Amino acid sequence: MTKYNVQRMKKQFAIIMAAVGILCGCQKKETAFQYNVDKFYDLEILRYDVPEFDSLSLQQKQLLYCLSEAALWGRDILFDQNGRYNLRIRRACEALYVQRDKVQCTTEEWAVFEKYLKRIWFSNGIHHHYSEDKFLPEFDQAWFMAACEAAGVQYDPAILPVMFDPEIMPKRTTAQDGVDLVACSAGNYYGEGVTQAEAEAWYAAHKDNSPEPLWIGLNSQLVKDANGDIVERVYRVDGLYGEALEHVVYWLKEARKYAENDQQREVLNKLIAFNETGDLQLFNEYCIAWVKDLDSRVDFVNGFTETYSDPLGITKDLAATKRTQLISDNAQWFEDHSTTDPKYKKEEVKGVTAKVITAAILAGDCYPATPIGINLPNANWIRKEYGSKSVTIDNLMHAYNEAAKGNGFNEEFMIDDEIRAIYEQYGALCGDLHTDLHECVGHGSGKLMPGVTKDALKEHASTIEEARADLFGLYYLADPKLVELGLLPNMEAYKAGYYQQMMNGLMTQLVRIEPGKDIEEAHMRNRQLIANWCYAHADGEMEIIERDGKHYLQINDYEGVRRLYGELLAEIQRITSEGDYPAAKEMVETYAVKVNQDLHKEILERYKKLNLAPYKGFVNPVYQVTRNAEGEITDVKLDFTEGYIEQHLRYSRDYSALPSVN
Ligand code: ZN
Repeated sequence: MTKYNVQRMKKQFAIIMAAVGILCGCQKKETAFQYNVDKFYDLEILRYDVPEFDSLSLQQKQLLYCLSEAALWGRDILFDQNGRYNLRIRRACEALYVQRDKVQCTTEEWAVFEKYLKRIWFSNGIHHHYSEDKFLPEFDQAWFMAACEAAGVQYDPAILPVMFDPEIMPKRTTAQDGVDLVACSAGNYYGEGVTQAEAEAWYAAHKDNSPEPLWIGLNSQLVKDANGDIVERVYRVDGLYGEALEHVVYWLKEARKYAENDQQREVLNKLIAFNETGDLQLFNEYCIAWVKDLDSRVDFVNGFTETYSDPLGITKDLAATKRTQLISDNAQWFEDHSTTDPKYKKEEVKGVTAKVITAAILAGDCYPATPIGINLPNANWIRKEYGSKSVTIDNLMHAYNEAAKGNGFNEEFMIDDEIRAIYEQYGALCGDLHTDLHECVGHGSGKLMPGVTKDALKEHASTIEEARADLFGLYYLADPKLVELGLLPNMEAYKAGYYQQMMNGLMTQLVRIEPGKDIEEAHMRNRQLIANWCYAHADGEMEIIERDGKHYLQINDYEGVRRLYGELLAEIQRITSEGDYPAAKEMVETYAVKVNQDLHKEILERYKKLNLAPYKGFVNPVYQVTRNAEGEITDVKLDFTEGYIEQHLRYSRDYSALPSVN
């Protein structure tokens, strides 16, 4: 088994979200909604609106409420999956936090402690949600011990070295060559003492090679028993994490009462049974039932699902917007007209459903940081036989855009007023369209040659796959077809998307990387790969120019950039279709990983002056329920005033059923 597989076999609890289909894309509140909530370190907390909520029936609101409860009860599971000390650390810090009046310290000391706790909530543990590096407190161990003592907070002393010693559990997931990937990762998918070799041997022995395989290892922890043998602890109501799953199941059963139709009831039945038994056959059946549910307006993703690019789960619901529908309807045209070699094209593109949704609750691995697009399920055979669902989450993108307005970023990094004006007018539209093309037709395009599997590219598979989908979208963003379909107003608008992609991939995404580090995350690698490759192969189409000691991207020939995207798309498709691992490795290592240190330093300095945060996350609305004397829900309202700290303290108080040690 490859490194790639060992790392990605286990799925995080991604009870991801419940969502509402958009009936009309234009009902957005433009005023008075407070999008910005909090900011600390490299993180910013935003709030999203749920503009469709009032248009739902009472039954749909009841359904959403129950799904939101089911989602929130999974929160502790993710903390524990991310590290076996996380719940102990979080609970000790929270206990201390609420005892503030008993702690004698300066305002500054307290602020530093508060930031540490806020960061734990954001990361669902003590490792950065994106870099996966452990973050260290800015207060010292003596301060923490004295404060806990003063406040009467009990804690397991074993947490102290985990919190304060940089050498212990430095990485949530390590991808370093030559080390034991299991033993050197802090993630809790394997018990203490389990080695990479033992885990790989176990997977090899249990792998399901049938045509409709079970996803062995999806919902379990591998541990050593008393004899030193590897055994599975399965996540289920009477197994690992059962204390939380019991509540999840309870609320899924409540939700079932309000299901919109039989297909959705079937989805819930399968999911309930899967959580009760841990039976992977039921998980497959659940995924299939979910893909088939195209009529429900309220949809949800709940379960143990893959997280990095495409959280697995479930998504959403009915009325697709014109934009994504048009793209889906033309999927075959896009497939036929791309720059890829005809032998790598699909004769028939199917199973692409595209929805624009409104998130109504975020949880699990989608909270507070969340993807803005989802394409599920992950199992290839289900996608092939039953199709997949792809969604973009409109209200979250809207919140990002609103919160970013006037923050000075474009003024600092874009080269001139002309491109800034184009970007201001069409940037958001290009962003939406690119996401749709990526999700609705990009991932679904192309085919593998006989005998080639998706795993062939091993640890580079997700970078190459994301690059492929991105390039497909970029190539078509400048196609007259989009203007013909009415998706773009003119042949000028796409320049906003092109400039943004190149600027981001070559320069500005580096704000997410610490000085001296390389790029590790698949999406960032993909973006740099595309931009660097095009830049390296450019012959006058673009250049980086220096002005007053600052570097800017200048694009001279946008059509030429499109040709470069098309060339690279053809090559990336070839690598994928042929499973050409050496070429993938070479491509990634040459263009995607290494950072230009001087440019990086400059970008960081310029960015720092803007005082912005590169990572965003959200607070959820609060579901306020009215019940009658019989206890039945008679009304559900959303409140949008809860703060970040209040929300997490409430979740930890009201939705925390797991013991600290699982
Ligand atoms: Zn993708």
